[in-house]
Amino acid sequence: MKIKFYGTRGSIPVSDPDFMEFGGNTTCLFISGVDEGAGTLIMDAGTGIRKLGKDIMDGNIEAGDEISLGFTHFHWDHVQGFPFFAPAYNSESKIHISTAGKRKIQNLKDIFSTQMQSIYFPVQLENMGAQIEFEKYNTDVVVGEKGAIVNIIEVNHPGGCIGIRFKFNKKSVVFCTDIEHPDEIDEDVVKLSMNADVLIHDAQYTDEELLTHKGWGHSSYSQAIEVAERSNVKQLIITHHDPDHDDEFLRKMEKNCKERFKDLVFARDNFELSF
Ligand SMILES: [Zn+2]
Ligand SMILES: [Zn+2]
Repeated sequence: MKIKFYGTRGSIPVSDPDFMEFGGNTTCLFISGVDEGAGTLIMDAGTGIRKLGKDIMDGNIEAGDEISLGFTHFHWDHVQGFPFFAPAYNSESKIHISTAGKRKIQNLKDIFSTQMQSIYFPVQLENMGAQIEFEKYNTDVVVGEKGAIVNIIEVNHPGGCIGIRFKFNKKSVVFCTDIEHPDEIDEDVVKLSMNADVLIHDAQYTDEELLTHKGWGHSSYSQAIEVAERSNVKQLIITHHDPDHDDEFLRKMEKNCKERFKDLVFARDNFELSF
Protein backbone atom coordinates (compact mmCIF):
# COMPACT_ATOMS: atom_id res chain seq x y z
CA MET A 1 0.00 0.00 0.00
CA LYS A 2 1.16 3.53 -0.71
CA ILE A 3 0.29 6.84 0.89
CA LYS A 4 1.12 10.28 -0.38
CA PHE A 5 0.49 13.48 1.55
CA TYR A 6 -0.54 16.35 -0.70
CA GLY A 7 -1.42 18.68 2.18
CA THR A 8 -0.39 18.56 5.82
CA ARG A 9 -1.09 22.06 7.14
CA GLY A 10 -3.99 22.65 9.51
CA SER A 11 -6.62 25.38 9.49
CA ILE A 12 -5.34 27.62 6.67
CA PRO A 13 -2.70 27.39 3.93
CA VAL A 14 0.59 29.19 4.54
CA SER A 15 3.18 30.32 2.02
CA ASP A 16 5.96 31.99 4.02
CA PRO A 17 9.52 30.81 3.22
CA ASP A 18 10.03 29.53 6.78
CA PHE A 19 7.23 27.00 6.28
CA MET A 20 8.27 25.37 3.03
CA GLU A 21 10.00 22.25 4.35
CA PHE A 22 6.79 20.91 5.89
CA GLY A 23 4.65 22.69 3.34
CA GLY A 24 1.74 25.07 3.25
CA ASN A 25 -1.09 23.10 1.68
CA THR A 26 -4.09 22.05 3.74
CA THR A 27 -5.21 18.45 4.19
CA CYS A 28 -5.30 16.04 1.27
CA LEU A 29 -4.22 12.42 1.46
CA PHE A 30 -3.88 9.85 -1.33
CA ILE A 31 -4.11 6.18 -0.34
CA SER A 32 -3.30 3.65 -3.05
CA GLY A 33 -3.50 -0.09 -3.01
CA VAL A 34 -3.66 -0.34 -6.81
CA ASP A 35 -0.84 -2.87 -7.11
CA GLU A 36 -2.56 -5.12 -4.57
CA GLY A 37 -5.97 -4.66 -6.22
CA ALA A 38 -7.44 -2.45 -3.52
CA GLY A 39 -8.02 0.65 -5.65
CA THR A 40 -7.44 4.17 -4.40
CA LEU A 41 -8.99 6.66 -2.01
CA ILE A 42 -8.45 10.39 -1.73
CA MET A 43 -9.26 11.81 1.68
CA ASP A 44 -10.24 15.49 1.92
CA ALA A 45 -9.86 18.30 -0.57
CA GLY A 46 -7.70 20.89 1.13
CA THR A 47 -5.50 22.99 -1.12
CA GLY A 48 -3.20 20.00 -1.62
CA ILE A 49 -5.77 18.40 -3.94
CA ARG A 50 -4.80 20.87 -6.68
CA LYS A 51 -1.45 19.14 -7.21
CA LEU A 52 -3.00 15.70 -6.81
CA GLY A 53 -5.46 16.58 -9.58
CA LYS A 54 -2.61 17.59 -11.86
CA ASP A 55 -0.76 14.35 -11.09
CA ILE A 56 -3.88 12.36 -12.02
CA MET A 57 -4.36 14.31 -15.27
CA ASP A 58 -0.66 13.96 -16.19
CA GLY A 59 -0.74 10.21 -15.53
CA ASN A 60 1.82 10.49 -12.73
CA ILE A 61 -0.48 8.58 -10.43
CA GLU A 62 -3.18 6.00 -11.03
CA ALA A 63 -6.53 6.89 -9.49
CA GLY A 64 -8.66 4.25 -11.23
CA ASP A 65 -11.65 4.53 -13.57
CA GLU A 66 -13.70 6.23 -10.90
CA ILE A 67 -12.05 8.63 -8.49
CA SER A 68 -13.11 8.03 -4.89
CA LEU A 69 -12.98 11.21 -2.86
CA GLY A 70 -13.92 10.80 0.79
CA PHE A 71 -14.36 13.51 3.40
CA THR A 72 -13.70 13.48 7.12
CA HIS A 73 -15.68 16.71 7.51
CA PHE A 74 -16.27 19.97 5.68
CA HIS A 75 -14.30 22.69 7.41
CA TRP A 76 -12.69 25.13 4.96
CA ASP A 77 -9.24 23.60 5.21
CA HIS A 78 -10.67 20.26 4.02
CA VAL A 79 -12.82 21.47 1.09
CA GLN A 80 -11.24 24.65 -0.24
CA GLY A 81 -9.09 22.91 -2.87
CA PHE A 82 -12.02 21.16 -4.57
CA PRO A 83 -12.78 23.99 -7.09
CA PHE A 84 -9.17 23.56 -8.32
CA PHE A 85 -9.30 19.77 -8.73
CA ALA A 86 -8.58 19.33 -12.47
CA PRO A 87 -10.29 15.92 -12.93
CA ALA A 88 -13.58 17.57 -11.92
CA TYR A 89 -13.36 19.59 -15.17
CA ASN A 90 -12.75 16.54 -17.35
CA SER A 91 -15.94 15.24 -18.99
CA GLU A 92 -14.39 11.77 -19.04
CA SER A 93 -13.91 11.70 -15.25
CA LYS A 94 -16.25 9.98 -12.85
CA ILE A 95 -15.88 11.19 -9.29
CA HIS A 96 -17.55 9.55 -6.33
CA ILE A 97 -17.71 11.98 -3.41
CA SER A 98 -18.65 10.47 -0.09
CA THR A 99 -18.61 10.67 3.64
CA ALA A 100 -19.76 8.17 6.21
CA GLY A 101 -20.74 7.68 9.80
CA LYS A 102 -23.77 8.13 11.96
CA ARG A 103 -23.69 11.92 12.28
CA LYS A 104 -26.35 13.95 10.54
CA ILE A 105 -25.15 16.21 7.80
CA GLN A 106 -27.04 18.35 5.38
CA ASN A 107 -27.35 17.27 1.74
CA LEU A 108 -23.82 16.36 0.66
CA LYS A 109 -24.18 17.84 -2.83
CA ASP A 110 -25.40 21.15 -1.36
CA ILE A 111 -22.19 21.49 0.65
CA PHE A 112 -20.19 21.60 -2.61
CA SER A 113 -22.66 23.57 -4.72
CA THR A 114 -22.83 26.21 -1.96
CA GLN A 115 -19.07 26.80 -1.91
CA MET A 116 -19.19 27.14 -5.71
CA GLN A 117 -22.08 29.63 -5.91
CA SER A 118 -21.30 32.48 -8.30
CA ILE A 119 -20.68 34.90 -5.43
CA TYR A 120 -17.74 32.73 -4.33
CA PHE A 121 -16.41 31.13 -7.53
CA PRO A 122 -16.78 31.67 -11.30
CA VAL A 123 -17.66 28.06 -12.19
CA GLN A 124 -20.65 26.34 -10.64
CA LEU A 125 -20.66 22.70 -9.59
CA GLU A 126 -23.04 21.59 -12.34
CA ASN A 127 -20.83 23.22 -15.00
CA MET A 128 -17.55 21.60 -13.98
CA GLY A 129 -17.88 18.83 -16.53
CA ALA A 130 -17.11 15.58 -14.75
CA GLN A 131 -19.78 13.12 -13.74
CA ILE A 132 -19.90 13.64 -9.99
CA GLU A 133 -21.92 11.46 -7.64
CA PHE A 134 -22.52 12.10 -3.97
CA GLU A 135 -23.16 9.53 -1.30
CA LYS A 136 -23.47 9.63 2.48
CA TYR A 137 -23.06 6.15 3.98
CA ASN A 138 -25.00 6.01 7.26
CA THR A 139 -22.85 3.18 8.52
CA ASP A 140 -19.57 2.64 10.29
CA VAL A 141 -18.22 0.15 7.74
CA VAL A 142 -17.97 0.72 3.99
CA VAL A 143 -16.67 -1.97 1.65
CA GLY A 144 -15.05 -0.59 -1.49
CA GLU A 145 -15.75 -2.05 -4.91
CA LYS A 146 -12.32 -3.67 -4.96
CA GLY A 147 -12.70 -5.17 -1.50
CA ALA A 148 -10.96 -2.63 0.72
CA ILE A 149 -12.74 -2.21 4.04
CA VAL A 150 -13.12 1.22 5.59
CA ASN A 151 -14.09 1.36 9.27
CA ILE A 152 -15.42 4.67 10.53
CA ILE A 153 -15.76 6.26 13.96
CA GLU A 154 -17.13 9.62 15.00
CA VAL A 155 -14.55 11.78 16.75
CA ASN A 156 -14.82 14.86 18.90
CA HIS A 157 -14.42 17.99 16.73
CA PRO A 158 -16.57 21.12 16.37
CA GLY A 159 -19.33 20.27 13.88
CA GLY A 160 -18.30 16.58 13.87
CA CYS A 161 -15.59 14.63 12.08
CA ILE A 162 -14.76 10.99 11.40
CA GLY A 163 -11.66 8.84 11.83
CA ILE A 164 -11.18 6.05 9.29
CA ARG A 165 -9.27 2.79 9.04
CA PHE A 166 -8.52 1.68 5.46
CA LYS A 167 -7.78 -2.02 5.36
CA PHE A 168 -6.95 -4.37 2.51
CA ASN A 169 -5.59 -7.89 2.93
CA LYS A 170 -3.40 -7.59 6.00
CA LYS A 171 -2.38 -3.95 5.58
CA SER A 172 -4.10 -1.06 7.31
CA VAL A 173 -3.75 2.67 7.69
CA VAL A 174 -5.70 4.85 10.12
CA PHE A 175 -6.41 8.48 9.30
CA CYS A 176 -7.45 10.49 12.31
CA THR A 177 -7.17 14.17 11.51
CA ASP A 178 -9.07 16.91 13.30
CA ILE A 179 -9.70 15.29 16.64
CA GLU A 180 -9.83 16.71 20.13
CA HIS A 181 -9.58 14.02 22.77
CA PRO A 182 -11.87 14.58 25.75
CA ASP A 183 -10.08 14.77 29.15
CA GLU A 184 -8.86 11.22 28.59
CA ILE A 185 -7.69 9.66 25.30
CA ASP A 186 -10.71 8.59 23.22
CA GLU A 187 -10.85 4.79 23.59
CA ASP A 188 -12.61 4.46 20.22
CA VAL A 189 -9.55 5.96 18.51
CA VAL A 190 -7.29 3.47 20.31
CA LYS A 191 -9.54 0.60 19.19
CA LEU A 192 -9.73 1.87 15.61
CA SER A 193 -5.93 2.11 15.47
CA MET A 194 -5.15 -1.21 17.13
CA ASN A 195 -2.13 -2.91 15.49
CA ALA A 196 -2.36 -0.73 12.36
CA ASP A 197 0.70 -0.47 10.12
CA VAL A 198 0.39 3.29 9.96
CA LEU A 199 -1.48 5.76 12.16
CA ILE A 200 -1.84 9.30 10.80
CA HIS A 201 -2.91 11.46 13.72
CA ASP A 202 -3.67 15.16 14.20
CA ALA A 203 -1.24 16.98 16.47
CA GLN A 204 -1.56 20.71 16.09
CA TYR A 205 -0.36 21.71 19.56
CA THR A 206 2.13 21.19 22.31
CA ASP A 207 0.61 20.21 25.67
CA GLU A 208 0.99 23.83 26.81
CA GLU A 209 -0.71 25.20 23.70
CA LEU A 210 -3.54 22.70 24.08
CA LEU A 211 -4.44 24.23 27.46
CA THR A 212 -5.37 27.51 25.76
CA HIS A 213 -7.04 25.86 22.76
CA LYS A 214 -9.73 23.76 24.46
CA GLY A 215 -12.69 23.36 22.14
CA TRP A 216 -10.65 24.12 18.99
CA GLY A 217 -10.87 20.48 17.95
CA HIS A 218 -7.26 19.30 17.90
CA SER A 219 -4.70 17.17 19.71
CA SER A 220 -1.25 17.58 21.20
CA TYR A 221 1.89 15.71 20.15
CA SER A 222 1.91 13.67 23.35
CA GLN A 223 -1.74 12.66 22.88
CA ALA A 224 -0.99 11.37 19.37
CA ILE A 225 1.97 9.41 20.75
CA GLU A 226 -0.16 7.99 23.56
CA VAL A 227 -2.69 6.68 21.02
CA ALA A 228 0.15 5.14 18.98
CA GLU A 229 1.68 3.46 22.04
CA ARG A 230 -1.59 2.12 23.38
CA SER A 231 -2.75 0.83 20.01
CA ASN A 232 0.61 -0.76 19.18
CA VAL A 233 0.86 0.79 15.71
CA LYS A 234 4.05 0.26 13.72
CA GLN A 235 4.46 3.82 12.52
CA LEU A 236 3.02 7.17 13.61
CA ILE A 237 2.68 10.09 11.24
CA ILE A 238 1.85 13.49 12.69
CA THR A 239 -0.19 15.87 10.55
CA HIS A 240 -2.40 19.01 10.62
CA HIS A 241 0.51 21.28 11.55
CA ASP A 242 -0.45 24.58 13.10
CA PRO A 243 -0.14 27.50 10.66
CA ASP A 244 1.99 29.32 13.27
CA HIS A 245 4.53 26.50 13.57
CA ASP A 246 7.47 27.12 11.25
CA ASP A 247 9.97 24.56 9.95
CA GLU A 248 12.44 25.13 12.74
CA PHE A 249 9.77 24.55 15.39
CA LEU A 250 8.41 21.43 13.67
CA ARG A 251 11.89 19.95 13.16
CA LYS A 252 12.61 20.43 16.85
CA MET A 253 9.28 18.88 17.90
CA GLU A 254 9.80 15.96 15.52
CA LYS A 255 13.18 15.23 17.11
CA ASN A 256 11.71 15.44 20.63
CA CYS A 257 8.77 13.19 19.74
CA LYS A 258 11.07 10.58 18.14
CA GLU A 259 12.79 10.17 21.49
CA ARG A 260 9.51 8.87 22.86
CA PHE A 261 8.18 6.98 19.80
CA LYS A 262 10.96 5.81 17.51
CA ASP A 263 9.07 5.16 14.28
CA LEU A 264 7.52 8.59 13.98
CA VAL A 265 7.52 11.16 11.19
CA PHE A 266 6.03 14.61 10.90
CA ALA A 267 4.27 14.62 7.52
CA ARG A 268 5.49 17.04 4.89
CA ASP A 269 3.71 17.99 1.67
CA ASN A 270 4.64 15.39 -1.00
CA PHE A 271 5.84 12.90 1.65
CA GLU A 272 5.27 9.34 0.45
CA LEU A 273 5.52 5.99 2.09
CA SER A 274 4.94 2.38 1.13
CA PHE A 275 4.27 -0.46 3.52
ZN1 LIG B 1 -8.64 20.77 9.68
ZN1 LIG C 1 -11.84 20.72 11.26
